[in-house]
Amino acid sequence: MSAYIATRLSHQSHSCKIHCSENPQIYNSLYFQKKKIMAHLMVMGALHAFNSVQQILLSELECPVCMEYMKPPITLCVNGHNICNTCKQKIPHCPTCEQQFLNTRNVALEKVAIELNYPCVYRKYGCSETYKLDFIGKHQDRCQYIPQPCPVNKLNLGTCTWTGISSSIMSHLNHKHKNLLYYYGNNSDCL
Ligand SMILES: [Zn+2]
Ligand SMILES: [Zn+2]
Ligand SMILES: [Zn+2]
Ligand SMILES: [Zn+2]
Repeated sequence: MSAYIATRLSHQSHSCKIHCSENPQIYNSLYFQKKKIMAHLMVMGALHAFNSVQQILLSELECPVCMEYMKPPITLCVNGHNICNTCKQKIPHCPTCEQQFLNTRNVALEKVAIELNYPCVYRKYGCSETYKLDFIGKHQDRCQYIPQPCPVNKLNLGTCTWTGISSSIMSHLNHKHKNLLYYYGNNSDCL
């Protein structure tokens, strides 16, 4: 697509060079416009390539058990399969080959992990933020997409298994607990 646009621009600019030769101002403005678009396309191409590489590297970090992205320490089994530290504590053997784990860390993969942007664990609830390892934990502690339980449980007003992001609590209450809302005067501060 980018190559097509670049070719079109080149053709347009070439025919324009003849028509605009009497008006260097127009020619110059078209020339700079073309340069600007070409630079933009190059940035877009580089960004696309960067995102693809990032995605491939992230998939290498997917834990085969919890499917979350592994963070250091990343350890190996005797056959070289990786596993996240949390899952390693819970299972006795490698889930991929059933062989034993080693106490060896995958230093190369840990180095890659440090350079990557990790998607927030609440992405399935709608968060699209990504951060390096140093900051992702801080973000996840105060992410606006952390699922919250229904407030009726906390207030001993009933039992409800619903969980959702804070911005959808009022609509849930309106939908499922309309009687309680009526009782509390439709005041969200009470709940
Ligand atoms: Zn895991
Ligand atoms: Zn294995
Ligand atoms: Zn988030
Ligand atoms: Zn509820």
